[in-house]
Amino acid sequence: MNYLDLDLTLTEEDIELKKAAHRFAKEVMRPIAKKLDEMTPEEVIAKDSPFWDFMRKAYALGYHTILIPEPYGGMDLTSKQQAIIYEELAWGSVGLTVALGVAAFPSFGASLVAEEVLIEKIIEPFCACKDASIIGCWGITEPDHGSDTLLPFHPIFSDPNIKAQCRAKADGDDYVISGQKSAWVSCGTIATHCALFCQMDQSMGMAGGGIFAIPLDLPGVSKGAPLNKLGQRDLNQGEIFFDNVRVPKENLIVGPEAYEAMLDITLSTTTAMMGIFAAGIARAALDETLEYAKNRVQGGKKLIDYPNVQQKIFHMFSKVETTRLIARAAYIYNQNTTTPAEEYSNVAKVYGCQSAFDVCNDAIQIFGGNGLTKEYLIEKLFRDSRAMLIEDGSNDTLAIGGGHKVIETYPRMDG
Ligand SMILES: Cc1cc2nc3c(=O)[nH]c(=O)nc-3n(C[C@H](O)[C@H](O)[C@H](O)COP(=O)(O)OP(=O)(O)OC[C@H]3O[C@@H](n4cnc5c(N)ncnc54)[C@H](O)[C@@H]3O)c2cc1C
Repeated sequence: MNYLDLDLTLTEEDIELKKAAHRFAKEVMRPIAKKLDEMTPEEVIAKDSPFWDFMRKAYALGYHTILIPEPYGGMDLTSKQQAIIYEELAWGSVGLTVALGVAAFPSFGASLVAEEVLIEKIIEPFCACKDASIIGCWGITEPDHGSDTLLPFHPIFSDPNIKAQCRAKADGDDYVISGQKSAWVSCGTIATHCALFCQMDQSMGMAGGGIFAIPLDLPGVSKGAPLNKLGQRDLNQGEIFFDNVRVPKENLIVGPEAYEAMLDITLSTTTAMMGIFAAGIARAALDETLEYAKNRVQGGKKLIDYPNVQQKIFHMFSKVETTRLIARAAYIYNQNTTTPAEEYSNVAKVYGCQSAFDVCNDAIQIFGGNGLTKEYLIEKLFRDSRAMLIEDGSNDTLAIGGGHKVIETYPRMDG
């Protein structure tokens, strides 16, 4: 369903992009996501899985390059257009949208420093790829380090006693990488490339990290089994292991000297993006609920005629609209500044994902028993939205990181 955009400055191009993304979400993503949701994690990534139809169609339309600047072959979108498209795709399926988002991660990371060699080796081939044969992932969390890895500029982040499980050491013209990334790496078992965030200088704690863009066909790389989980079952996830993997020095995007700042910049985009996805899934739940409540008759009346249902729908609507407003604003601001205000992206993620979950939860209440069955999409949306409270940083720890930032920086000045 369409929505009124309160932004009166939308151009015709913005609106056309929104319509095209919505069509793709409705006609391609929704039906494929439903099928994948009912499959095993192994079936989801099998050769004949509809997952690959989705990926190939999305790549053919260029949606894998939403995040990449145009000079390298990206879609040439404004930040606002990116936000508009991402909301539509997440309306279709959050899990599949995350798959597309992380697919771009090695190229996105490399585009932030734009070294010629990385442009040629990583970014340009990815942008030129139209058949989903190049898929990236973001390897940052580890079995023993989830929240620890996502708190830049928090005192925890510089604790030298925190020893990561995946580390890189310089050796001649190469780095040698050993260790593993968590089972939560999105697209982990199908990725051909990884934006690897790993520790390089333990004396700096987690802040002593480095970011590599690396192909995953190097000797010593292996992968775990695809993860079986509650929500976003259409999103492949799994571990990546590194056994003395030699990586040329040119594949290093940034080392410990700039790691914390680069992570901060990265998170200011990804956490706001999660807020945008939250607006998409919450809107999907609102759409489903309105449709249902307008038709379901109980006690001789349609559900929408009951004041408690009207009130719930108002609060659901409020959460959709406020999530879009903060998430889009934080995304646009932080994509267009050199000193990101990460706390605003944290608001977008924490408020947005909690709102999306609340909206899906309220939706189930309005659906009654039907909401608990696989027959109705709302059951899947509820499970998918639950994962968002942990995905890309637990809401609990992002609130701690955000609170720390507010205490340090509030009030920031304009400009
Ligand atoms: C759908 C999905 C997709 C994901 N995709 C990726 C991906 O592409 N790449 C990747 O690397 N990872 C990915 N992750 C991993 C995700 O980032 C982590 O799950 C998340 O950061 C939380 O880490 P954890 O699961 O290890 O939980 P933990 O860090 O163990 O935290 C569990 C709970 O403990 C509490 N806690 C932890 N630390 C603190 C603290 N310092 N202060 C106070 N309380 C604390 C919080 O309540 C928190 O919710 C994904 C996860 C999901 C669910």
